[in-house]
Amino acid sequence: MKLALLGYPLKHTLSPFIFEKIFKAAGIEGSYHAIEVPSKRLFYHLVPELLSSGYAGLNVTIPYKVDAFTIADEKSEIVKRTLSANFLYMKDLSIVAENTDYFGLKESLEELEVDSKNAACVIGYGGAARTCLTLFSDLGFKSIYVIARNPEKAKVSLKEVVKKLTSKVFVVSEVSEIIESLDLLVNASPAGMHPKIKELPHGFEALQKVSKKGAVLDLIYNPRETVLLAEAKKKGLKTMNGLKMLIVQAVKAFEIIDDKKIDAEFLMRQVEEKV
Ligand code: NAP
Repeated sequence: MKLALLGYPLKHTLSPFIFEKIFKAAGIEGSYHAIEVPSKRLFYHLVPELLSSGYAGLNVTIPYKVDAFTIADEKSEIVKRTLSANFLYMKDLSIVAENTDYFGLKESLEELEVDSKNAACVIGYGGAARTCLTLFSDLGFKSIYVIARNPEKAKVSLKEVVKKLTSKVFVVSEVSEIIESLDLLVNASPAGMHPKIKELPHGFEALQKVSKKGAVLDLIYNPRETVLLAEAKKKGLKTMNGLKMLIVQAVKAFEIIDDKKIDAEFLMRQVEEKV
């Protein structure tokens, strides 16, 4: 089985390692190539080329998740709602798009056991934040706050995604605009990621709004504990990094194109040793 990851930059990606373990667990011979794609034009050229020349599937990451939605002939329901995709594959000569990040995020939040579903907050308004908004709404959160450095841009960018949600969505630029206590805070911005591990996301102070029984999820997995998570732990909050989401999205992608079931927990332990 031949798979690839398309994105830019890809220097620190863990995906080839994760897929090496998935192939081993499934007992199949496979190869996984991380292909850096420096331009949109090349992305649109490469996707059909690779899928018609023997690649069974393509993972897609920053900055092409919206383009992965656009290029697909067929889209899953989640892709239609998040307007972004992270996995492309061929079915009956059509390019099909799935958003397996949604399932990775869902399983992460299930493990975090967020009890109350009144208000959730996400920092950032990019591809991952779209998936957060859709899932928060599906989980029944009444209010969702989006913290954006540029709220006007965020409102335009999220307009079509927000239309499909049942929750009330508030795009704010300052934490003081959050008027409820938060049950869940998710960092869906790259601030705090290696190598700039000391960089705090705009909206970091939203941590002060998280209720005592609340939870904090940082989608970053390198470092394993960001400053945001370390501070959340000090406050006694439930915390989790983005590793589980990364692994579950990879497993889900594999299971779309292969019948074998992969034990995500076992894989998680193997990957944890590596990071
Ligand atoms: P993206 O589409 O580039 O969006 C990033 C968002 O973060 C933008 O809205 C950006 O807004 C905002 N942002 C950037 N720097 C910020 C800062 N210092 N403070 C506050 N907001 C800031 O990226 P993405 O695909 O959504 O990914 C976001 C993060 O999630 C990345 O760290 C990525 O690695 C992680 N992620 C993890 C997984 C996983 O499996 N664990 C899956 C997907 C994504 P501006 O316009 O203000 O820059």
